[in-house]
Amino acid sequence: MSVMDIFETMDYGPAPEGASPALAWLKEHQPFNLFINNQWVQPASGQYLDSVNPANGKVLTQVASANSADVDAAVAAASAAFEKWGKTPGHVRARYLYALARQIQKHSRLLAVLEALDNGKSIRETRDIDIPLVARHFYYHAGWAQLMASELPGYQPLGVVGQIIPWNFPLLMLAWKIAPAIAMGNTVVLKPARYTPLTALKFAEIVQESGLPPGVINILTGEASQVGEALVRHPGIKKIAFTGSTDVGRSIRRATAGSGKKLSLELGGKSPFIVFDDADLDSVVEGVVDAIWFNQGQVCCAGSRLLVQENIADRLLSKLLIRMERLRVGDPLDKAIDIGAIVSSTQLQEIQRLVARGVEEGAQVWQPSWACPTDGYFFPPTLFTNVSPASTIAQVEIFGPVLVAMTFRTPAEAVELANNTRYGLAASVWSDNINLALDIAPKIKAGSVWVNCTNLFDASSGFGGYRESGFGREGGKEGLYEYVRHAWEAQLASPSGYTPTGRAANGASSSSFTDSLLAGIDDELDGLSAPETIELPAIDRTSKLFIAGKQARPDSGYSRTVYDPAGRAIGEVGDGNRKDLRNAVEAAHKASGWATGTTHNRAQILYYMAENLSVREDEFARRIVQQTGRSHVDAMSEVQTAISRLFSYAAWTDKFEGGVHRPPLRGVVLAMPEAIGVIGIACPDDYPLLGFISLVAPAIAMGNTIVVIPSQIAPLSATDSYQVFETSDLPAGVVNIVTGERDALSQVLAEHDDVDAMWYFGTAEGSKRVELASLVTGWILYRVRDKSFYALLPRSKISGFLMENSCNR
Ligand code: NDP
Repeated sequence: MSVMDIFETMDYGPAPEGASPALAWLKEHQPFNLFINNQWVQPASGQYLDSVNPANGKVLTQVASANSADVDAAVAAASAAFEKWGKTPGHVRARYLYALARQIQKHSRLLAVLEALDNGKSIRETRDIDIPLVARHFYYHAGWAQLMASELPGYQPLGVVGQIIPWNFPLLMLAWKIAPAIAMGNTVVLKPARYTPLTALKFAEIVQESGLPPGVINILTGEASQVGEALVRHPGIKKIAFTGSTDVGRSIRRATAGSGKKLSLELGGKSPFIVFDDADLDSVVEGVVDAIWFNQGQVCCAGSRLLVQENIADRLLSKLLIRMERLRVGDPLDKAIDIGAIVSSTQLQEIQRLVARGVEEGAQVWQPSWACPTDGYFFPPTLFTNVSPASTIAQVEIFGPVLVAMTFRTPAEAVELANNTRYGLAASVWSDNINLALDIAPKIKAGSVWVNCTNLFDASSGFGGYRESGFGREGGKEGLYEYVRHAWEAQLASPSGYTPTGRAANGASSSSFTDSLLAGIDDELDGLSAPETIELPAIDRTSKLFIAGKQARPDSGYSRTVYDPAGRAIGEVGDGNRKDLRNAVEAAHKASGWATGTTHNRAQILYYMAENLSVREDEFARRIVQQTGRSHVDAMSEVQTAISRLFSYAAWTDKFEGGVHRPPLRGVVLAMPEAIGVIGIACPDDYPLLGFISLVAPAIAMGNTIVVIPSQIAPLSATDSYQVFETSDLPAGVVNIVTGERDALSQVLAEHDDVDAMWYFGTAEGSKRVELASLVTGWILYRVRDKSFYALLPRSKISGFLMENSCNR
């Protein structure tokens, strides 16, 4: 073909990246063994699995199929390595992470080609997006290793971490998991996805080259039923970090419930892509390409629901159809293609099944006129219009290049439609009106909201979901907390560390769990005088429940007697039940305006609560003495500490504001902590007032509304607090208190669909039941067992806003 001919037709010619170095590397190493203790080890089963190129269905190589015996060996190696690595100075760990980053850059070409061959994604994306971001993750976390001692004082690594990653961004997900884990001093056993193990194996070679101590990073290829499940259940693993489907996330939640393992889940999504009528439609079209046709739409945060303002819908859709016609699907190694191959025939069939379902449900399907290659697993860019918000294709994650379009008329309707999903991972908002964009972005229930751009990630900016998109954050400082625990938590080495709470006859606490949570006040209480003899008043009155700002009789009509440590009755409280909790949750939802009020106002109310408590400190101290038998001096100290805590949380209310990140992209990230919503709280039995205040104050300081179950055996300090709330201008419904049997009430709260998180302090068995209950509700429960009273908010609730004027291409 002559140059003249090319000018005439303007056709693309093939422009393939050379695959021979990658194929030669595969040939030289095959079959691949397991990477344990910096050695290549044959699998115990002696079996190997094929790894297939999805662009042509041909076998690329064979990788070992690990089983539970290999998991045992890898965990043993990682445990032995942790002894030293966990104590290695941050600067030394930083050097290793830096070395990994450098080596990744040096091997970037090979890694980019391997990733394209193994996954089917285009070389343009692996070369320009995946691999540079992988290197960036190791550089960024080298920085945190260096700074850990000064920036995370008092925090320690967890131990051996089990990491399970998916096939859609194989090496990038590895980097998201391994970099923060080892930066914080943990050691790792990682399982790549069955379909895409190759770049992880090349990374293992890089680990060897970089001279990392043996056992710090171990990589086990194989099948979920053999490796994944064994890893999740292994008693030597202290944390599981998982990215993948919501169903598997749920099964991991079930398997780890009650085990004391820390868990982070990054699951699916059905993210809205919202276009207002003043948006620049040409940028929007390119944004849509990036949102749903990037990585063949196999992206957990893909903008798969296009929500367009009705008056511009026809104009935008016709531009989009023209653009779709010009997209190119084909050989992933061709530098000029837009869409590569779907990862596997199973995934392709699932996409085809869901598209057929959309057609059956009456939606109109649009695809380009050209045909896809037939020698691999390809699927064309697809658009659905005439879609009903409740239809399968509008609700279910398709995980393929399929976009569903719906329209809205007003901004309020856009928010309603956007939030009409069980997921909450990401969203993007398109408008040239900055006021509108910044008004809408915080109203969307999603971990990341991009403004006039989409699918941008950076190591500095935490990423993660709400609802069925999982919990925990990856990236940024907030992501580090997934891999550390505070020194006091080390005392809780096993779930048995938090034994059923009970009290000896003298009223002394017998729970090391709550003692540890209240660490700090012990010092303040030390050395105080022996209990005074207090004359006990007769039974005075029955405290009611506190719901929607009013004292309410329990639905059951029954009350529970409260006894002092000597077994004498000192009062009665309502025996709350399911119906009372339902009313309380409803009241808490109605008070949601608390989150959108000013932080200044919230701070003022917390200060006011402290002031009103201090006016009555003697009365509160006497109540503590009555319930616990402790000395009055000791009880006064508890009240004063509670007042001090209220001051602390009032102080933090307008200071815990998140951060601004400047990733190496155009634009800026605003990371804003958000209220979770309605939180259920079950209080510990020890320190009846301080335990209650220390949980209530941080939750409401951050804008949450709450339903609290006070200490079961010493609830009167909480019920006495009604008067403090009532006189402190706390809006009705922000704090609701239901007394009764802690574990029965906790179960109801945990199973309630409208409770967004649960904070439970009680027995190991109760804790397990609460974790399991989250599965019943269909959402993944965030239970903040691993935060101290001093923690302000689960740091996972960070919302990112990326602002740019145009899309990222
Ligand atoms: P899975 O969730 O099944 O797989 C993700 C990872 O978990 C893989 O390494 C897998 O191993 C492993 N795994 C699977 N089951 C278990 C288990 N019981 N215990 C421990 N580990 C397990 O995703 P799929 O590959 O099956 O994809 C199915 C759907 O999941 C997609 O269509 C998409 O909707 C969603 N998905 C979401 C992703 C995201 O980023 N949020 C990523 C990938 C998929 P193995 O590969 O050996 O099966």
